[in-house]
Amino acid sequence: MRPFRRRPTPQSTSPDAADRVSAKTLPPYTVRISPRARRVQLRVLPQGSVEAVVPRGFDPRALDSFVARHSRWISKRLASIDEQRRRRPHLFETPPSRIDLPALERAWSVDYRWDAGRPATRPRAHDALEVCAGDADAACALLQRWLMRQAKEYLVPWLRETSAELGLEINRVSVRAQKSRWGSCSAQRNISLNRNLLFLPPEGVRYLFVHELCHTVHMNHSRRFWSLVSRLDPHFERHEALLRRAHDYVPLWALPN
Ligand SMILES: [Zn+2]
Repeated sequence: MRPFRRRPTPQSTSPDAADRVSAKTLPPYTVRISPRARRVQLRVLPQGSVEAVVPRGFDPRALDSFVARHSRWISKRLASIDEQRRRRPHLFETPPSRIDLPALERAWSVDYRWDAGRPATRPRAHDALEVCAGDADAACALLQRWLMRQAKEYLVPWLRETSAELGLEINRVSVRAQKSRWGSCSAQRNISLNRNLLFLPPEGVRYLFVHELCHTVHMNHSRRFWSLVSRLDPHFERHEALLRRAHDYVPLWALPN
């Protein structure tokens, strides 16, 4: 599922000659060509930059008017990032001095050793980590690997337990670092999970599991799919809304490159 993209992200319609807007009012944006994209998507990244993801062969001249048409949406997103920075400054700290993984109901303080020595992440106590790295970028890379290990260690067995509990069988489970998708389920019942689920509260993770497990029965978002989801999670609407906002809870250091 890709909650982030579902509603708030503007998508292109065909470029319209009526949308001539002065370039002066345009927010600056970068362009990324994606072979998977079928239409233009705008993303406001947590760093506070704007990215337009365009399909191959898209006429770049149509982009300015597309961005201009969504400038209100962009300003709103940028304002909400500023608000986040004020309210949750620790999410923007790179490298972080503390790591919260609400999914596991655990938190760690992080200390850094910038001197030489083998780059590594070492547990110092149940709630403390020590990172030995050359610089901030290297430290974040090490922490990303540490995060992936946590995700594999805890999310995979948790999903398997949920699958057994609900009697919905699955095959392979993989964990990936993904920008927008929280999880997916293939026709072969292989489930892929986003490692950043660890930053969600446990009920959000459980809902994602239920959602993907229901796709082992219905490979679509039909009425029958949602009726199965609602039977297994009576609060699914609240949890769906939680997942749509959830990218705001992923700290900057943990965003996939
Ligand atoms: Zn789905």
